[in-house]
Amino acid sequence: MLDSYDRKIEYLRVSVTDRCNLRCRYCMPEEGIADEGHSNILTLEQIARLVKVSTKVGIRKVRFTGGEPLVRKDIVKLIAEVAEIPQIEDIAITTNGMLFDGMAEDLKAAGLKRVNFSLDTFVPEKFRYITRRGNLHDVTRAIEKALKLGIAPVKINTVVMKDFNDDEILDFVKLAYEMPLNVRFIEFMPIGDLPFYKKERLVSMSEIKQTVESRYELLKSSMLKGNGPAKSYQIKGGMGTIGFISAMSNHFCSECNRIRMTADGKLRGCLFDKGEVNLKLALENDANDEELVRLFGEAIKKKPARHHMDEGWGVGNERKMYQIGG
Ligand code: SAM
Ligand code: SF4
Repeated sequence: MLDSYDRKIEYLRVSVTDRCNLRCRYCMPEEGIADEGHSNILTLEQIARLVKVSTKVGIRKVRFTGGEPLVRKDIVKLIAEVAEIPQIEDIAITTNGMLFDGMAEDLKAAGLKRVNFSLDTFVPEKFRYITRRGNLHDVTRAIEKALKLGIAPVKINTVVMKDFNDDEILDFVKLAYEMPLNVRFIEFMPIGDLPFYKKERLVSMSEIKQTVESRYELLKSSMLKGNGPAKSYQIKGGMGTIGFISAMSNHFCSECNRIRMTADGKLRGCLFDKGEVNLKLALENDANDEELVRLFGEAIKKKPARHHMDEGWGVGNERKMYQIGG
């Protein structure tokens, strides 16, 4: 289906939980997480039904996220159910990787096609600092496992922050040079008004690219599968690719093809827009599929032309990244 600005919407990002086994400083507060009670969260059956309904407005690709999608009980079963929907061509997850190793075979057998791991540093102490509780080794082991299982492409999402990991940019490029990985540098965004966000911590994409090109030659890449907003490059002589996601300095809204569903059953046209359509309420009122299709259409039509992140997070935009689904 086309939205009000003629963008074809075919990608649904589904947050399956707002819970997480980490507490990354740029995403979640340390304390006082208002855990959505189970009654507020969509059941697995409801999520599977909604994904099926979404195909009627043209959704063809689904990404499960959160919070941490792998802490959701029965995520494997959900992936298997969604894989049964004939119109869904692609199922991916974005994960911190902590639990991936032990679940990888089951996820793949269920129908998982692609995985994005979030990794911001190669220094164990810095990893522990930024995630407040994670273990670097668990992510590196997860990445190796995904490669071993042939889940391709394997992507690494790296949020670049001044004086935290901007000195590691070339280390990440080296990783993509030596291994068939797609490293995507992401600009730090002020989502959720967390105190860790400071304008001074933002490193713009042009700065990051300049650093990369000080040592490596980048070749414009042909379209990489499912690469969405990232501008991708082959590294001359290398195995993997580098991508740049510049939500802040050069937004890509005119090419955006996605809508988001939160764990508590709200549809959002844009990460940064607080306008939501309440699917959970409709389900509680025994909505039939026709009504749900109408609500998906409403969310798509409401999708704003672009975000205004440069003007700040916005008054009344209460949710944080882990509550929307990154
Ligand atoms: N827990 C999973 C993970 O970390 O991959 C999935 C959810 S997480 C919210 C999804 C992505 O959002 C991660 O790659 C994370 O780095 C990114 N993210 C969270 N807060 C961000 C921020 N303030 N700016 C940029 N990216 C952010
Ligand atoms: Fe959890 Fe992912 Fe947010 Fe980190 S970025 S706190 S892993 S949801």
